Amino acid sequence: MTNLVLFGPPGAGKGTQAEILKEKYKLIHISTGDVFRYNIKNETELGLSAKSYIDKGQLVPDEVTINMLNAEVDKNEGANGFIFDGFPRTEAQADALSVLLKEKNTEVSAMIALEVEDQVLVERLLERGKTSGRADDADEEVIKNRIKVYYDETAILKEYYKKQDKYYGIDGVGSIDEITQRLSAVIDELMKK
Ligand code: ADP
Repeated sequence: MTNLVLFGPPGAGKGTQAEILKEKYKLIHISTGDVFRYNIKNETELGLSAKSYIDKGQLVPDEVTINMLNAEVDKNEGANGFIFDGFPRTEAQADALSVLLKEKNTEVSAMIALEVEDQVLVERLLERGKTSGRADDADEEVIKNRIKVYYDETAILKEYYKKQDKYYGIDGVGSIDEITQRLSAVIDELMKK
């Protein structure tokens, strides 16, 4: 199995690239943000517990997020592999992912990070907010908080995967196609192993 963690700050382009890569490499794309939004829209219990955090640009608590991720992975028995988009975001989530994949006799193949400077992120998210209907994209303070939470709580995962020799950084500025090519170069190498 090939299990990719697509990493980077909010607005780095993870979702856009994951949609392309899942077709190209026949992988299952799990976006924790999308699963939360689906649950909020359908007013499920999970959606209700996640909404207050998401609206403020905070992380949803680990326990809720990890249980949700486990359930999503279990829905896809027999998959070729996964693209995790928006997960893990904390060390506890990274540990949980490792346990989960080990139970399936597999592991994280790589963390591939899209590197984009903050100024560009804020501009992209405000632009997306005009059409995405996402409340967390419409408010500059919430956007800034999401970027802050990324640096305070999530960015440490770069070291986590570096220690395992699984970290690959990619320049996330360029056309969608250029970035897909940069990501593909890394994934093609991984698949040869
Ligand atoms: P972005 O990367 O653009 O911030 P996402 O769609 O990945 O957007 O996530 C939206 C929100 O969902 C996050 O701001 C956070 O509140 C919540 N969320 C998503 N993934 C996680 C996670 N792994 N752990 C905790 N909260 C999460």
